[in-house]
Formats: sequence, structure tokens, C-alpha cells
Amino acid sequence: MILQPITEFINQHSYPEFKLKAVLFDMDGVLFDSMPAHAEAWVRAIRKIGLPFTHYEAYMHEGRTGTGTINGIFQREWGRSATSEEEKAIYTHKSKEFRELSRTIPMPFAGELLNKLKNKGLDIILVTGSGQASLLDSLEVYYPGIFCQEKMVTAFDVKYGKPNPEPYLMGLQKAGVKPWEAVVVENAPLGVEAAKGAGIFTVAINTGILEDEVLVDAGANIVLPGMQELYNEWDILF
Ligand code: MG
Repeated sequence: MILQPITEFINQHSYPEFKLKAVLFDMDGVLFDSMPAHAEAWVRAIRKIGLPFTHYEAYMHEGRTGTGTINGIFQREWGRSATSEEEKAIYTHKSKEFRELSRTIPMPFAGELLNKLKNKGLDIILVTGSGQASLLDSLEVYYPGIFCQEKMVTAFDVKYGKPNPEPYLMGLQKAGVKPWEAVVVENAPLGVEAAKGAGIFTVAINTGILEDEVLVDAGANIVLPGMQELYNEWDILF
């Protein structure tokens, strides 16, 4: 029963096979429990300029670049994009709130999973919409020896960002693998959409406040409640 998602996936895409070589990890909400702080920081920064915004929306927007999130809200409320001054002011405020709110909390069982995959000889790639230097630095502190600069796609590398497939296509390129040789681990609907667009098998870890259906609708091949379940089920799944 558990093998079915992979078989379905291969058939859907008419891939020649499924041969795992690389695992592409999102960061916020997957490796670090940073989404509650991100959501609260976005809510504070957007409400400060008098626009309505909820935590649920922040989770729905997760994965977009700051520019994408801000312009989406401006378009909806005022029918125009933000000026670069407005965008800079809001993003600066959001980043300040985030720094004040956030403690770096590694996601339970993320380290165990990363080490297990590394020991299996799988290539590990980071694909994040984040440009938070503090969290990027934290990778080496909490997951030493797992990630390296050449195997990362961050906000600084991309033009479009999630939900465009671009960041995951870049991730495949950095790993030097085909879509049927990789798996994505994501927690956000837009991240799942990006991974699906890149044609990669996607495991959604529902660590936030959204319903599982939102992740399924975005295109997740499997939805699990957390990294512990993925760690436990990895050998059965792949
Ligand atoms: Mg995420």
C-alpha cells in the first residue's frame, strides 16, 4: 500500500524509473520550527500599515519571497504593487519582529533524519525562500556537516521563488540529478506546488496550522504529521 504513491508517481510522469540519489529540503517548518515566529512577524508588519492579515494567510503565503508576499497583499487590498520604499519598510519591520520573536528551534527528528540520509550516501540539498542570515547560519550549528554553500538554493539565488518551480529545478541542477532521482520534503502549499511543478516526488510534513487537504490539493504525494514519522517510515517509503 505504501509503495503505491511511488508507482503512481512514475506512471503519472512516464518516468523510466525511480532511483533516489538526492533529497531536497525546505528549511522553515521542516528543519526549524520557525513558522510560528514568521507568521506572527508578518501579521504585525502588515497590520501596522493598516491592512488586514491573519496567521492562516501567513501560512498560505509561506515560501514566497518577501516581495511576492507584500505585492500579493497590496494587489488584493489596493489593486497595485508596493513601491520599493513601501516594500523595504514592511520587510525591514517584518525582519525586526522576526528577530525579536524567534528562538532557533530545530524541528524534532530533523537531525536524525538528515544523518540517516547522509549515511545512506544521499545528496542533501537546501531549497529555501528564506534570506534570513541567522537561520542559514544556524544550519551549521544544529546540523553540522550536512549542508554546504554549493548545495543551497536561497532567496539570494532565485528570480521568481516558490510557487514557481525555479528553486527546485535549481536544486536538481545543484545535485546533478533528474526529477525521478530526488525527493522533496516541504511543509508549505506553495513549496509543494513548486516541487510538483519541477516534477519531483513530494513529501509534505504538516507542521503548521493548515489542513492536510491544503497540502494534498497543492500536489503532495504523501502527507505526514512530522519529521519523526518521516524518519520512522523512510525505509518503507523509499
Ligand atoms: Mg517551509
